[in-house]
Amino acid sequence: MPRVRPPRRLHLPPTDFDAVIVGGGSAGLSAALTLGRCCRRVLVCSSGPPRNAASPGVHSFFTRDGTKPSELLRLGREELAAYPTVSFRDALVTAITPEPTTQGFTLTMAPERGGPDLTCTTRKVLLATGVSDDLPPISGMRELWGTGVLHCPYCHGWEVQGQRLAVYGRGKTGWGLVQLVSRWSRDVILCTDGPAGITEHGRQRLRRLGISVREEKVLRLEGTAKGQLKQIVFESGEPLTRDAVFLHSEQRQRSTLAQESGCRILKSGAVWTDKKGQTTQKGIYAAGDTTPAPQQAIIAAAEGSLAAIALNEALTREDCRG
Ligand SMILES: Cc1cc2nc3c(=O)[nH]c(=O)nc-3n(C[C@H](O)[C@H](O)[C@H](O)COP(=O)(O)OP(=O)(O)OC[C@H]3O[C@@H](n4cnc5c(N)ncnc54)[C@H](O)[C@@H]3O)c2cc1C
Repeated sequence: MPRVRPPRRLHLPPTDFDAVIVGGGSAGLSAALTLGRCCRRVLVCSSGPPRNAASPGVHSFFTRDGTKPSELLRLGREELAAYPTVSFRDALVTAITPEPTTQGFTLTMAPERGGPDLTCTTRKVLLATGVSDDLPPISGMRELWGTGVLHCPYCHGWEVQGQRLAVYGRGKTGWGLVQLVSRWSRDVILCTDGPAGITEHGRQRLRRLGISVREEKVLRLEGTAKGQLKQIVFESGEPLTRDAVFLHSEQRQRSTLAQESGCRILKSGAVWTDKKGQTTQKGIYAAGDTTPAPQQAIIAAAEGSLAAIALNEALTREDCRG
């Protein structure tokens, strides 16, 4: 194993790590690989499952199409074991406190196994904390999430192509998504669960595509024990047989750390970064679903790598100043 050069920061007290990555999903593990290979002392702190935990397979991930989400991350961690520069802690990061003496940060962590809080110091932080999905409060949505209720046709359209599909949503969101999904099946129905909020022009377009709109209130979704959708039941009691339903969920940041650290948060709730993953707070970077980019595992991984390069270059500039 190559020797890791200690940082040269002659003018500042040392820190435990060069970078702490908060979140061990695709973005975090990919960033750890890049930084570990830069001979940086890296800690990956993660707590909780990745966003796609409910899904049977990660699709559209080059060389890993269909791999179970937990397996994808296991492989990522296994690969990182070759780099003694990278360590892991199963802990929830609860605070990031700027440290004027080191010009870095102190992180507070709550270990998953319990016990007292831990702290560590670092020069830079990368937030790869992801988002979580708030689903409509309809019986069956959560139970079928990831199998019969799908969030993205790019990830799961292939598996349900040609089947009886529905899109749940109204206004421009539902209107746009149902047209996208019609790429995978000619039998798609838009369920708006109340007034559709679509203009006459928009309705005409859907009619031309053979897409019907159901505006009745949705009572529940019914599916199999294995999570396959069987039917959508309207308040009138009438069931609509469907094999899968797509929707754009409401999203929440998985962590409030960016907000608490004073990073700029966009109206959408995403953490703003420049093209290289730097947030508005110097020394704090962000990557993956937590930022505004399209949300796919491979894009999260690419963003993690991009932010890691920017972070390493910032560290290198500091190191070379002596
Ligand atoms: C049902 C479903 C299926 C999907 N299927 C696909 C697919 O087939 N293909 C595809 O490309 N994409 C898919 N996606 C999207 C994909 O899950 C995300 O794009 C990807 O997981 C983003 O990676 P990430 O690293 O940004 O976040 P995540 O994978 O969510 O990882 C973030 C991690 O950070 C942890 N964390 C958060 N806060 C803290 C904290 N304070 N301290 C410590 N740890 C913390 C979280 O618990 C989590 O483990 C799917 C999404 C869903 C919801």
